[in-house]
Amino acid sequence: MAYQQHTGIFKIPQLTSEQEQEYLHLGEDSFQSLLERVLNTPNIPWQAEDQYDGVSIFEEKHEPHHLSYRMISKINATIEELARIHDFSSPANCKCYVSEYATDIINMETLHSFIERTKERPFRQAYLKWNAIRSPVPMIFCHRDFVYVETQDEFELNSGLRGWAFAQRSIKAPFAPKLYDFGYARGELLDTGCVYLETEIPGVLDVIYCLRINFNGSMPSWARRIGLRARARGLDLMNDRVHRLRLCSQHLRSPESCDCKTTTNSCFICQKLQHFKHKHCQSCGKVVCAGCSRTWKLHGTEDTEENLQFVCVCIACSLAIRGRTTSDPDRVTQRSSSAHLIPTMKEVLVERPNSFEMMNTITTAELATLQESNELNDEPSLGLDLSYVEVYRSRRR
Ligand SMILES: [Zn+2]
Ligand SMILES: [Zn+2]
Ligand SMILES: [Zn+2]
Repeated sequence: MAYQQHTGIFKIPQLTSEQEQEYLHLGEDSFQSLLERVLNTPNIPWQAEDQYDGVSIFEEKHEPHHLSYRMISKINATIEELARIHDFSSPANCKCYVSEYATDIINMETLHSFIERTKERPFRQAYLKWNAIRSPVPMIFCHRDFVYVETQDEFELNSGLRGWAFAQRSIKAPFAPKLYDFGYARGELLDTGCVYLETEIPGVLDVIYCLRINFNGSMPSWARRIGLRARARGLDLMNDRVHRLRLCSQHLRSPESCDCKTTTNSCFICQKLQHFKHKHCQSCGKVVCAGCSRTWKLHGTEDTEENLQFVCVCIACSLAIRGRTTSDPDRVTQRSSSAHLIPTMKEVLVERPNSFEMMNTITTAELATLQESNELNDEPSLGLDLSYVEVYRSRRR
């Protein structure tokens, strides 16, 4: 147990086996109630709240004691890949996750690891964790931090389709004093987590993120919306994260390898002539222009800064990689039926600005505009689509 004696932000005492059992039980309970809510209770008065980065956001209104949101999206990934990304058994993994995927998380630490992954149950883990979430408007609301049990596991529906999920529930933690001096107010997670479900399309998963949270303080809806968008962006970034994992497991050419004597000097996609030093796609090796390729930042296979490298991959290869899995490189998703799920070439190329950086430098004038637009735009325009739940419900019968 790598984290047993770990002394990062808190000094964690040696847990007795009774304490361990208690936390494990709590985590199991939280995991089951998350699944229960996602798969069996669609009839909550959900109200469409927002749509951002391909993620639909719904709010459960009239919940007096806490905030309850659900985000729905799709991802080109496998359960194996997601479980690997959510492996928090080392500080390096936590750091990588925060820097690569969660723009709204300031810091995250695993305080204790209850279960090690085994060959028999490779996707089951349980942790005691702490994290700090960036305030959407730091000059007005302070950051929030959370101490919680996180349980991860896979499951199978009656249909034979698999799923994987993680659930987080806050605990009373006498060993983790509140960090007001550092600008954090302690919040409470009530079975927050994410459920990933296999779909009929190989390599495409449904993503249902449930956020049930008590901020311990009030926050107006426009500020909450900024925070929700950061979370939605995190869900969307997961696509990129999986993409990078796949690139890492691929054989890529060195950037210098060049067979230009036999080829022309124009981009093989848009035909534009490359006058100066041209680039090659490091996957297929063809000459490609900057507009038809993207440079990916890769951490190598170990997710560490030391192995950091930059690789140039053309959009044609990017699309092929997105439809593939690391475990089975030759399996390509059925393009015809899932064409709408695979981003268009243009979408792959768009380097979205870091919306959270922009949010952190928000001006008073922008704040006023946000408040105004929120007032004008209070009527939700999205229809609530919970058909995925109905489908899974009927499958479970
Ligand atoms: Zn060349
Ligand atoms: Zn081009
Ligand atoms: Zn290529």
